[in-house]
Amino acid sequence: MDRLDLKNLTKEELEAELLRIGEKRFRAAQMYEWMHKKLASSVSEMTNLSEGLRKKLAEEYDYTCLQKEVMLLSEKDGTRKYLFRLADGNVIESVMMRYHHGNSVCISSQVGCRMGCTFCASTIGGLVRNLSAAEMLDQVYSVQRDTGERVSNVVVMGTGEPLDNYDNLIRFVKMLSAEDGLNISRRNITVSTCGLADKLKKLADEDLGITPALSLHAPDDELRKRLMPVAKKYSLSEVMEAVDYYIEKTGKRMTTEYSLIRDVNDTPEHARKLIALLRGRKCHVNLIPVNPVEEREYRRSHITNVLTFQNLLEKAGINVTIRREMGTDINAACGQLRRHFEEEHKG
Ligand code: SAH
Repeated sequence: MDRLDLKNLTKEELEAELLRIGEKRFRAAQMYEWMHKKLASSVSEMTNLSEGLRKKLAEEYDYTCLQKEVMLLSEKDGTRKYLFRLADGNVIESVMMRYHHGNSVCISSQVGCRMGCTFCASTIGGLVRNLSAAEMLDQVYSVQRDTGERVSNVVVMGTGEPLDNYDNLIRFVKMLSAEDGLNISRRNITVSTCGLADKLKKLADEDLGITPALSLHAPDDELRKRLMPVAKKYSLSEVMEAVDYYIEKTGKRMTTEYSLIRDVNDTPEHARKLIALLRGRKCHVNLIPVNPVEEREYRRSHITNVLTFQNLLEKAGINVTIRREMGTDINAACGQLRRHFEEEHKG
């Protein structure tokens, strides 16, 4: 039988569990603080618990704590790419970026991904499994422990489709923003989806106050289906209906991500179609020069095409930015560090 993971429990759940095993309620507050504020890496660090209790907890429960396998540090801008090992031996990637406004961590939500986007390295080996809330939290905790610096922003844009791991994602967001945890402001938590329309609506109903992002990458169904198999399940009109619902329900603006791929989705014609799609909607466009992935033949757009694309959107009154590239000297595209590592350690 699976053992309970202490780090996966909310404070209320932890209280109930401790009462169940005959412990006092106040122990839950102590333990919660050790796990989610002091970021203890094991139960043995919880020195205000009796030795007997620590022993019992260590023997009878799991305690997620990621092992740092690799860390690459950018000489240029201090970006750090991490490869963490999970208790079952799987590895995941997280990235820390330094901005003027604070430190941002990009976390993975799954081991692998089953969405199959054709330009993305994370999806090549398919989905292995979902990450638990504790495994998502501990990516942030591990980075904070490793750097000794506070993390103020978290983006769920690493490997995986967060809305394909819905319940764990919601638990993660609530625990990450809890006052008795790291207390990261909800608007500084960004969740990016490839467009699971029904789940996006469900997320709107939760009204968590998080910042939503949608991976668009194409302005029409035909092209989107070629780039993103998920578009066969949810048409653009269904996705945009969910976006409208989200905006109306929460008052939030939707960031749409558009990776520019040379000769595939980067012409003025594509820009015009995108303008028609987004006009009148409270959306912001983030243009991302595509990261070339070894296994794929896609190439980045010429800088002139990127600027023309941006210009057309701007002139049409659409809010647009080009994503600043970080850590280019340590840049294996998203998901590639993990793939290389697994290739090297096979067999
Ligand atoms: N599954 C979620 C979140 C993870 S992907 C989603 O689809 O949004 C995070 C972002 O990186 C997405 O916009 C994704 O389309 C983009 N992406 C993936 N591979 C990329 C690549 N090689 N170059 C540029 N962007 C990429």
